[in-house]
Amino acid sequence: RHVPEDISTLLSMTQPLKLRGYQKWDTFCDAVSNMMNNTLLPADGKGVMVALRPVPGIRIEQALTLCRPNRTGDIMTIGDNRLVLFLSFCRINDLDTALNHIFPLPTGDIFSNRMIWFEDNLISAEIVQMKMLEPEQWGKPLLVASDSKPVLNATHDGHVWRRVPEPLRLLSDAEERAS
Ligand code: C2E
Ligand code: C2E
Repeated sequence: RHVPEDISTLLSMTQPLKLRGYQKWDTFCDAVSNMMNNTLLPADGKGVMVALRPVPGIRIEQALTLCRPNRTGDIMTIGDNRLVLFLSFCRINDLDTALNHIFPLPTGDIFSNRMIWFEDNLISAEIVQMKMLEPEQWGKPLLVASDSKPVLNATHDGHVWRRVPEPLRLLSDAEERAS
C-alpha cells in the first residue's frame, strides 16, 4: 500500500532505463542526469553520450528519422542543430558497433561532426550545458503519419540492416490485355 520513500526514490531513479527513442530536450536531460546520479549503476560505466551534426543539406529533423534505436535505454533528442544520443551501458570501444545498429546508413554519410562523452563527470557537465539551451532552440520531430512510408525501407534483424523487398509488376493488367 504505502511504498517507503527510499524505495520509491530508488524505483524512480531506474525509470530512464525504460525509455527508448526520441525524447524532448528537457526530458532527455532529466533522464540522463537521473542516470548519472543513480548510485546503483556502475561508476563511469553507465553509457556513452554522443552529439552528431548533420552534413550540409540534411536537416536535423531528417537525420532524426534515420535514428532508430532498438535497445531499451537508448534515447535521443534534437536541438541546436545537433542530434544527441545516450546509449545505455554501451562501452566507448563499442560505439561504432552500436551506431551501426541504430542507423541504416553509415553515420559518416549523415553527420559531419561528432562529440563523445563517456565518464559520469563529463556527461554530467555536458548535460548542465544542454539544460541552458533556450526552448526556442529545441528541435521538433517531423510529423510523420503512422501509415506513411519510412525514409529508407530497411529493418535491422539483430545483425545487419536489410532492405525490405517490395513486389513490383513490370506490366500492368491493361498492357497485358492489349498485347
Ligand atoms: P532490448 O535491450 O530492449 O533490445 C531490443 C533489441 O535491440 C534486441 O532484440 C536486439 O534486436 C537489439 N539489440 C539491443 N542491444 C543489442 C546488442 O548489443 N547487439 C545486438 N546485435 N542487438 C542488440 P532481442 O535480441 O530480441 O532481445 C530482446 C530483449 O532481450 C532485449 O531488449 C534485452 O532485454 C534482452 N536481451 C537479449 N539478449 C541480451 C543480452 O545478451 N544481454 C542482456 N542484458 N539482455 C539481452
Ligand atoms: P554488450 O552489451 O556487452 O553485448 C555483447 C554482445 O552480446 C553483443 O555484441 C551481442 O552479440 C549480444 N547482445 C547483447 N544484447 C543483445 C540483445 O539485446 N540482443 C541480441 N540479439 N544480442 C545481444 P554486439 O552486437 O557486437 O555489440 C557489442 C557491444 O556494442 C555491446 O556489448 C554494447 O556495448 C554495444 N552495443 C551494440 N548495439 C547496441 C545498441 O543497440 N545499444 C547500445 N546502447 N549498445 C549497443
